[in-house]
Amino acid sequence: MFGILIRLAMHDVIVLGVGTFGAAACEALARGGAKVLGLEQFSVAHNRGSHHGKSRMFRMAYYEHPDYVPLLQRAHEGWKALESRSGVRLFHEVGALYLGHPQSELMAGSLEAARRHGLAHRVLSRADLAREFPPFHVPDDHAGFLERRAGFVLPELAIETMVDLARRSGATVLEGARVKGWTADGGSVTVHTESAAYSARALIVTAGAWSGRLIADLGVPLVVTRQVLGWVQPASDEPFRNDGEGNGFPCWALGYADGSLHYGFPIMPGESALKIALHARGVEADPDRLDRTITPDDEATFRSVMGVLPGARGPTVRTCVCMYTNSPDGHFIIDRHPRHTNVWLACGFSGHGFKFAPAIGGAMADLAMRGRTDLPIEFLSMKRFRS
Ligand SMILES: Cc1cc2nc3c(=O)[nH]c(=O)nc-3n(C[C@H](O)[C@H](O)[C@H](O)COP(=O)(O)OP(=O)(O)OC[C@H]3O[C@@H](n4cnc5c(N)ncnc54)[C@H](O)[C@@H]3O)c2cc1C
Repeated sequence: MFGILIRLAMHDVIVLGVGTFGAAACEALARGGAKVLGLEQFSVAHNRGSHHGKSRMFRMAYYEHPDYVPLLQRAHEGWKALESRSGVRLFHEVGALYLGHPQSELMAGSLEAARRHGLAHRVLSRADLAREFPPFHVPDDHAGFLERRAGFVLPELAIETMVDLARRSGATVLEGARVKGWTADGGSVTVHTESAAYSARALIVTAGAWSGRLIADLGVPLVVTRQVLGWVQPASDEPFRNDGEGNGFPCWALGYADGSLHYGFPIMPGESALKIALHARGVEADPDRLDRTITPDDEATFRSVMGVLPGARGPTVRTCVCMYTNSPDGHFIIDRHPRHTNVWLACGFSGHGFKFAPAIGGAMADLAMRGRTDLPIEFLSMKRFRS
């Protein structure tokens, strides 16, 4: 009923969706010697999912929950290891500055994560901020939190690099291969694209915004939202520049009382525009019918931070629309399928997953091959929705 061609070769693992986590899982599986097949509906690194836009922030003092810190420590090692295996620079450790009222989720949560895990950081008073980071004009009751072991990753290049490494270790990654459905029994899975069917001992589903459709019986609602990013051209770009070695303007985030935050990146050598965005749940969207037209409201939303960053005023020079896949509590979902023991899921990254890719990709590879991982991800299982 599905395909016209049955591929009989049995793989160890099929990875459904080769975006952020699928690329990382393919790389880890292939490096470990598994026979892996990755199926991607578009191309490797594209602009129709959740991983485009040139930069993704990496933070260590994780305000969302301190339990993420061990995963971030593993991810930090993972990015460095990927860089040395590939010879490609993927991670720019330019530091990150968080700003807000000391009681805000961002500030209180970052401090809690840093204290609990002994992470190097500095707390800055408003006077410190004015002296050391003059571009920011924050309200009187705001403070700063600075961590140096933070920065940003280049997402498209990272995905291309992980897939390249996976292929060099023997993985097959097919592009333009849209999965229509899959079936599983205890010992094998069969995955159907429009033109073929493939089988493997295990399946990893890393389908991002399309996950809800592919695992309809998950029992946990995933809400896809439309998110907008913007680049502005400041009158003077000098205050926003970083030399690429961590000197100069850092990554930053400004937290608000409702839990949302504006955030942004430095202008790096060879660039001239300043990237800013609002991290807040956008309008619900269908991943196959995403509205990519930028409205005046979209622009006003990311530009509304200009009161705090007045030197950034200048024309909007670029925008892009991306998607979050939100879990009910904003935390990731990494688990075995509730009914199929050889199907593993990594989804619901809720707009903050990219930085974890090497750690979670490695854990997915271990789960699919051995049924267990030493990465402490129990808190991300679906059990939490049942209690
Ligand atoms: C605007 C924006 C800003 C962000 N900023 C940050 C940040 O600063 N730091 C951070 O850590 N995170 C950030 N994130 C979040 C991060 O980018 C995502 O959590 C992460 O990219 C999600 O990865 P994924 O693998 O789930 O999805 P994707 O990377 O989109 O991969 C899913 C893949 O599955 C494929 N697929 C789906 N269905 C099928 C099918 N049926 N057949 C074949 N292939 C299929 C898709 O085409 C896609 O390539 C941001 C996200 C957005 C949108």
